[in-house]
Amino acid sequence: MKIISIDKKEWNSGLQQSRESYRLTGPVKNQAAHRYKDLDDDEFPDMDFGETALSPKSILFPPSEVMLTFTTDKESPDCNIMREVPKAYPDRAVIGLRPFDAKAFQVLKLNYDTKEYQDPYWLKAYNACTFIGLADNSPSVFDFSTSCNSGPFDETGLDVLLVDTGDTYLAKILSDKGDAFTMAAGFTTVADDNSAAVIDDMKQAAEAKIRSTISFDKIAEKTVLELFEADHWEETAFACINCGTCTYSCPTCWCFDIQDEVSGTDGVRLKQWESCMTGLFTLHGSGHNPRDYPWQRTRQRFMHKLKYFSDKYQQGIMCVGCGRCIRQCPANIDIREICERMNG
Ligand code: SF4
Ligand code: SF4
Repeated sequence: MKIISIDKKEWNSGLQQSRESYRLTGPVKNQAAHRYKDLDDDEFPDMDFGETALSPKSILFPPSEVMLTFTTDKESPDCNIMREVPKAYPDRAVIGLRPFDAKAFQVLKLNYDTKEYQDPYWLKAYNACTFIGLADNSPSVFDFSTSCNSGPFDETGLDVLLVDTGDTYLAKILSDKGDAFTMAAGFTTVADDNSAAVIDDMKQAAEAKIRSTISFDKIAEKTVLELFEADHWEETAFACINCGTCTYSCPTCWCFDIQDEVSGTDGVRLKQWESCMTGLFTLHGSGHNPRDYPWQRTRQRFMHKLKYFSDKYQQGIMCVGCGRCIRQCPANIDIREICERMNG
């Protein structure tokens, strides 16, 4: 394991140098909150943040993405032919990913990269990325990532883990991609021999700050029907207004819809974020909706995250404990409490 030391005074010039090989994406302040964006040529990431309001899933899975174009113009030789939109996937370095968000990409990968089916849009974008994580020295009160097989110093899915020690970043190089990025940025100063111990101490201190937990150990023993037909769901979902904020802000919610939109004779086929919280999500062409009542949609979200996913993949729950859905829900619906109900 190679650990290098990056003097913060050299951070921006190194990033600037890396631009010869990488397009940079990182967190920037956007009014009250931070968000990830593709950085302009003279722009640098603002690494002084907790977690971004929206997760970084949009880097690989944009809220709206044009897949195909078509025309209905009968005069055109292309009439009614779907054309793929050419896309470029330049090497991209995603700077400042919180560890739970990097872990979330591995959860999404279970869905987008299977033996039977690969989502080419997500996968090409994923493969073009080098993920540079930033350990979280001060996890928020909503963070329960240590209960979800992750944590503030989790290395899963990362190519480099940066640890902020004040005037320097200690950078753990976790893959060949990570090595290539630090070389391209000119970050080559090998850290002191005690740097691994320093990182370990900081990891333990950060994990000890997390007081929030979730328990789901008994959910696996219960049957789907037992949980689905439990009599608490209408009460559990009573306050939910089905706004979808929880699903849109969540790094592990992966649902999308495919829609055609036409203006005049020009049309596009779009892949767009969708949410189990919306009534249209399951509306059949016949007019029947198997989740006609709002509480049924709330139940679906929690059954998917806490039961269906766990049963199918045997890799814990579909949640990395970032806490965004708890912090942002206008009705104070808390996945930790609902998980407790299902578990009990
Ligand atoms: S649980 Fe909260 S954030 Fe999610 S749809 Fe319901 S009200 Fe909105
Ligand atoms: S369910 Fe909530 S806490 Fe879990 S990953 Fe999604 S937004 Fe974060």
